[in-house]
Amino acid sequence: MRKDWDTYFMDIAFMVSTRSRCPRRHVGTVLVQGKKLLGTAYNGAPMGVQDCSEAGCMIVEEFEPAPAGSTEMIKKQRCIRTIHAEQNLLLFTDRVDREGSVVYVTDQPCWTCANMLANSGIAEIVYYRPYPKDYDKVAALMEQRGLIFRKLDNYTPPADTEVQDGS
Ligand SMILES: [Zn+2]
Ligand SMILES: [Zn+2]
Repeated sequence: MRKDWDTYFMDIAFMVSTRSRCPRRHVGTVLVQGKKLLGTAYNGAPMGVQDCSEAGCMIVEEFEPAPAGSTEMIKKQRCIRTIHAEQNLLLFTDRVDREGSVVYVTDQPCWTCANMLANSGIAEIVYYRPYPKDYDKVAALMEQRGLIFRKLDNYTPPADTEVQDGS
């Protein structure tokens, strides 16, 4: 059966994500204008700088609210060595090309990436894996900004493109 466009571009985003050298999280993203692929990016250290596989992850610990309306705070570890995939995508594409385009990304963008994407000229964000921590504020931002923000349902990533231990 022929792949629909959503599946086609999300599959490419997952293939791109396998380039990431951060063992904690592999994120891939592609920029699409009409049906044309304008750019690809994944999370990684700046060029010429040691990446997570060479220098190890750069871990910070942060407290964030526990899910499901609890007031409890839980400690989370996050790797900050990499530039997020969405930010790399913006660094390597042109503003004029982005006007009205669609971003496919393997993971729901974090608050900072969503905020930047909202100001980047794109019209739509399609993601697959949820990121509940930032969902509410990102969804509110997208609605306010009038951007389409949707999770791809009934989708299965290509074989061997997901990290086993994504934390
Ligand atoms: Zn890392
Ligand atoms: Zn991000």
